Order: sequence, then structure tokens, then C-alpha cells
Amino acid sequence: RARFHYHWATGSTNADALALARDELPRIVVAEYQHAGRGRRGRQWQSPFAANLYLSVRFPLARGFSALGGLSLAVGVAVAEVLVAAVPGLDVGLKWPNDLLVGQAKLGGILVELAGEMDGQVDVVIGVGINGRMTASQAEQIDQRWTDLASHARQMPDRTALCGDLLSSVLAMLATFSERGFVPFMARFDQYDLCCGRSVRVQAGDQQEEGVARGVTEDGALRLQTANGERLLHGGEVSLRIQ
Ligand code: ATP
Repeated sequence: RARFHYHWATGSTNADALALARDELPRIVVAEYQHAGRGRRGRQWQSPFAANLYLSVRFPLARGFSALGGLSLAVGVAVAEVLVAAVPGLDVGLKWPNDLLVGQAKLGGILVELAGEMDGQVDVVIGVGINGRMTASQAEQIDQRWTDLASHARQMPDRTALCGDLLSSVLAMLATFSERGFVPFMARFDQYDLCCGRSVRVQAGDQQEEGVARGVTEDGALRLQTANGERLLHGGEVSLRIQ
């Protein structure tokens, strides 16, 4: 059971979820439009009035901060599985640590933020944005390749049902993650992993590193094979390009 907040328009569903009181969790925030949709590191998520989805789930995990590795990957699995079921043949993949891509184009994004930590539990907000049918004017603002479900679906899935299925899947995933962490999602992540075996360039702050991606560890770190041996990279501040 989760309390549901619906907004016609808002700044950011993640910001709204973070601002809620910490009682009566989990809570869900959904909006039709975000005028300040968030990406990582202060980036913007373009969120026009369109057949897109903008949703956030606030959930108290029975785990400490140090056990959060792989959370955004597990969200990716939960979302990708629903999208594939809703749009037959959709060739969606996950780009570590937080993007949903079709080919090289971004279909959706995931943003995990922390609401707080208490008594060894951590209160997280999971934001998911999926492009259903992007509007041309807003698309001009996106500075990388993007796509939407409408470009790949013979028949568009019912948007309300899709939203409900995404929320159920994310909530079920969170219940499992809360107990057992990323491990139950690892093999499923591998099925969608777009980077494994590919040459990638990784940027963390002003440091750059190149290598071959070799999958992920039990705590969601990327295994990067470099000229100097294997390096483990943790999500957070890292940006990755497939070469
Ligand atoms: P990168 O995608 O470069 O690895 P990131 O993962 O930090 O960076 P996010 O925070 O996930 O990026 O998303 C923000 C970026 O996604 C924006 O800077 C923009 O390039 C792109 N973007 C913004 N809105 C959309 C959208 N609706 N659909 C697809 N891509 C978008």
C-alpha cells in the first residue's frame, strides 16, 4: 500500500517526494508536466505535457546507506521489464548506471536521491521519466540522442495502465531490494546491460578513464578492464559513454 499524490503540473516529482513528511511511507508522486524536471548533477530532464511519464516513489529501505549499491540498476530492471511487456519487440537496454536506451538513444532516465537515514534505514526517492511521445519543440532542448515509445510501438500502450504497472514493478522491486539488495537482480540486469564487452569512456569529475566494460559486481559497481588492470566504479558522480 502506498499513498498517491497526483499533480497536473509541478516542479519535480522527486523534489515533491523529498519534501513530504516521513510518515506514511511509501508514497508515490506522479505529474503530467514538470517545469524543473531533474537529472543527475543538476542536469535537467525535459518534461513537457506529452504522453510521457514522470513518477517518483519514496520508500524506506531496511538497509543502511552503504548497502545502496545497485539500487538504480535494480530500478532499471524493474522499468525495462514493464516496458518490454507493454511494447512487444521493444529493444530497450540499460546503460550503467541510470539510463534506459533504445539503440544509442535515451528513452528514459532514473534518478535516485536520498531523503535521509535513520536507525540504519535509508529513506530513498526513486524518480523515473519515460518518453512516451516527445513533443518536437521540447526535444530541441535535449543535447543528446533521445527516443520515445511512439517511435517503436505499433500500438501505444494505455498510458494509465503503463504508469500503474511501472509503479507496481518499482514497489515490488524495492520490497525485494530492501531485504536482499541487488543480488536478486544481477542476472536480470545482465540481460539488459548495453555496456558489457564494449569499449567505454568514463568521466568522474575531471578524471577520465577508458576501458572495456565487464559487467557489474554484487553491489552494482561497474567492472572496467583498463590497461592497468580491473577497476571498480561506483555510480554516483560517474558519467559513461559507449564508444
Ligand atoms: P549521461 O546521460 O550523459 O550519462 P546523466 O546520466 O548524468 O548523463 P541524466 O541525469 O540521467 O544524465 O539525464 C540528464 C540528461 O539527459 C540531460 O542532460 C539531457 O542530455 C538528457 N535528457 C533530458 N531530458 C531528456 C528526455 N526527456 N529524454 C531523453 N534525454 C533527456
